[in-house]
Amino acid sequence: IESLTVGELAEKLHRDSSEVIKKLMKLGVMATKNESLDKETIELITADYGVEVEEEEVIDKLDIDIYTDENDSEENRTERPPVVTIMGHVDHGKTTLLDSIRHTKVTAGEAGGITQHIGAYQIEENNKKITFLDTPGHAAFTTMRARGAQVTDITILVVAADDGVMPQTKEAIAHAKAAEVPIIVAVNKMDKEGANPDRVMQELTEFELVPEAWGGETIFVNVSAIKGEGIDELVEMILLVSEVEEYKANPDKRATGTVIEAELDKGKGPVATLLVQDGTMHVGDPIVVGNTFGRIRAMVNDLGRRVKSAAPSTPVEITGLSDVPQAGDQFVVFEDEKKARSVGEQRAARAKDEERNLTNRVSIDDLFSQI
Ligand code: GDP
Ligand code: MG
Repeated sequence: IESLTVGELAEKLHRDSSEVIKKLMKLGVMATKNESLDKETIELITADYGVEVEEEEVIDKLDIDIYTDENDSEENRTERPPVVTIMGHVDHGKTTLLDSIRHTKVTAGEAGGITQHIGAYQIEENNKKITFLDTPGHAAFTTMRARGAQVTDITILVVAADDGVMPQTKEAIAHAKAAEVPIIVAVNKMDKEGANPDRVMQELTEFELVPEAWGGETIFVNVSAIKGEGIDELVEMILLVSEVEEYKANPDKRATGTVIEAELDKGKGPVATLLVQDGTMHVGDPIVVGNTFGRIRAMVNDLGRRVKSAAPSTPVEITGLSDVPQAGDQFVVFEDEKKARSVGEQRAARAKDEERNLTNRVSIDDLFSQI
């Protein structure tokens, strides 16, 4: 965005135009509601508000709105790979299924392709990529969604054919429905004696997951994760759903996305696995991640290889941050490092403030509860 009117800026800031006009006056800028403001002035005002804005959300949206670049147009949006998470009851085969898909679809020619380096991986089928997240599905939905991030496009619901719908199966359905994410059911352990896929289908109709064969719209695939059976069909169905849903992103703009996991490495310092959800990320990019910032020193892909850039839906591990962010934190690439630093520092200060306020509020509550 190169320019905004005073009114538009006020709206983005969730403030009255008159308040913004007053602030502008203090800065020596006389402007009416419909007057266009240049980038410099917009930055002055937002920086000024940055320390005052209370809601995390507001500033998150703000950073993204204000600092996206000229390339941010609808026409530049192109197809991107779907991001898939696997959910289901414990021991129904989530981990085995993830391993099986990777073994089946990552070609042996890709050296080290079998060892997973980060908590996510990509496969390619018929020139179409699919990203799988290895975060326990429930964490992906609860922690991340609690922090305002949605990373999943499609959920694979794994149900063991010899066990049927269990408590965590129901939880998984509830999460996916709340997030309005399409569900593909993988009926697993078909190799086992006592496997009863019809019973699973029957049980799931109670949750409005009705197979196409019975007049519903839910895709069911019978698989044996352990034998690698049904994996091709499952992958095919994921591609089918993504064709229908038409997931898009703009690879030409600066990257934004979400932290999948992060930790402090003794040698490398803060290390974070990021999912690029829009734009393309490059080594050297100045970046604000949650309440921290930095410049991307190195990027490693899911195969453990160093890469220079990461397109939409790509998971990468980065180094170069000044602190360890949290899973679910949003990130935004900035045009220059100075700005990234100032926004990062403001956010860190605000987070500290909030923590302090929270403690104060708690003690006041305590006070009242004793009266
Ligand atoms: P998770 O808790 O959902 O991640 O389940 P796991 O992938 O750890 O699998 C739980 C157990 O079920 C393990 O002992 C697996 O070997 C077994 N298992 C997973 N998939 C299959 C399958 O397709 N067939 C059979 N027979 N066993 C399976
Ligand atoms: Mg597991």
